[in-house]
Amino acid sequence: MANASVAQSINRQTVAAALAAARSEAAEHRAWINAINRAALNLEASSWAFDGDVLRIASASTPHVRYTVDAHGCPCKAGAAGKPCWHRAAWRLLRKAAEMAALAAELQAAEGLDLRAAMQAAAAELIPLTHYARAWDMATLQRAADELYA
Ligand SMILES: [Zn+2]
Repeated sequence: MANASVAQSINRQTVAAALAAARSEAAEHRAWINAINRAALNLEASSWAFDGDVLRIASASTPHVRYTVDAHGCPCKAGAAGKPCWHRAAWRLLRKAAEMAALAAELQAAEGLDLRAAMQAAAAELIPLTHYARAWDMATLQRAADELYA
């Protein structure tokens, strides 16, 4: 999915929706929650590029150092030691945002939803917990989204 349309689907709104979903999914894992929260802050402040598969992101602590993060991991100190790092959390966040945005675009076309409602429905669809939402029942999807964002 490395293409221009992926990059276009990554914006403040899609990342915010992915962030809410990621926090919900990682609720039991304190280290990942910390990494996700730091990733959200650093994505605002750092320079980065994401093509759908690979994230290139500047180190927050060491000037001029850039990390290349993909599905296999991150080369930073924490990542190399197998610990959660904010770069990997950022990769997950952007990947989730791209997946949600792609599904939301389908929902917008099929159901005439606005972007916010479509992103909520997409979050509900993509999270394993709400597997019942796969029936594409919009009332169920909306209820799941309401729970997620409550
Ligand atoms: Zn890292």
